[in-house]
Amino acid sequence: MKSYLLASLTAMILLSCSAAEKQPEKTIVSDSAQSNQTAQAGAQTLDTSWSSKVTKTNEEWKKILPPDVYTITREQGTERPFSSKWYENHEHGVYTCYCCANPLFSSETKFNSGTGWPSYYAPYSGKSVDVSDDNTNGMSRDEISCKRCNAHLGHVFNDGPKPTGLRYCIDGVALNFVPAPKAKNIHKATFAAGCFWCEEYVFEHIRGVGDVISGYAGGKKDNPTYEEVGAGTTGHAEAFEFEYDASVIRYADLLKVFLASQDPTQINGQGPDHGSQYRSVIFYRTEEEKKIATDYINQVNTSGKYPKKIAIEVVPFTKFWKAEDYHQNYIQNHPNDSYVQQESIPRFMRTKSSVPEYFVK
Ligand SMILES: [Zn+2]
Repeated sequence: MKSYLLASLTAMILLSCSAAEKQPEKTIVSDSAQSNQTAQAGAQTLDTSWSSKVTKTNEEWKKILPPDVYTITREQGTERPFSSKWYENHEHGVYTCYCCANPLFSSETKFNSGTGWPSYYAPYSGKSVDVSDDNTNGMSRDEISCKRCNAHLGHVFNDGPKPTGLRYCIDGVALNFVPAPKAKNIHKATFAAGCFWCEEYVFEHIRGVGDVISGYAGGKKDNPTYEEVGAGTTGHAEAFEFEYDASVIRYADLLKVFLASQDPTQINGQGPDHGSQYRSVIFYRTEEEKKIATDYINQVNTSGKYPKKIAIEVVPFTKFWKAEDYHQNYIQNHPNDSYVQQESIPRFMRTKSSVPEYFVK
């Protein structure tokens, strides 16, 4: 581990970062880390659509990063405890990678560890951080780095609070902060893709999505029952509807999750469920949503990602009928059901591994 700190301070700091209960003495700040962060903080807008990895040589990083950020993130440095303005920051928002803007930690998981370093009990998403062994300085620790650009961020320890019991001990210099928008931007979305139990469960784990309701849409009969829809005579599809905060997740990102949660090329069915009541549909509410959906489907078709054409219908929303109570939260209420075990849970896991950046847990 290289450090830009005085050698006499390094041992104390390493000790402190590995033992939350020991509070180090405050040291004098003599670098420009915080002024640099002040200049950048708030300049970002949060981009949760994790795209490709960011790869640069050390020379390239050196040109664009302030010296202290370079030393911490690219040379595995450690900042002095209590030197980061983020340590005492209690604002709502998201801490992002200083180097590449990847969302790393939510303020919701931040806690006061007493160590002098910003501390969190969980990363922002499955695409936030990597963990690797760090056996330098005679200690065995788990190093945390940015999954997108490989920036060194700090270490993770097993003495954190519930629910994870983990303490992500992070160098504040490696972070930027994007404050949460002052006002929510609530919209509704309605989709269909086979069994509504499965889709409801997937979307209930997506950041920015509220309670998800299972129901029926796209047909002609009022107040349809499960049996009528199942018989395939009403024209309805098993569907699901929810509110989402567009300041947290965009409609285009909901569509990415939606496609990842199914075989979007299967016509009139998903997995073992066949019939028009299991067809896949995007029920758009505005012309803008229609354009986002059709553009995205065209883009996926052109990409050649799937061997067949996308079979998802894009139709205007008319009416959503809530399904019977026993269909709501079905998977949470019937975790040992054989269909849930064999279809729903594997489908959930496939979706989560495909687009982990959108999953809260
Ligand atoms: Zn990064």
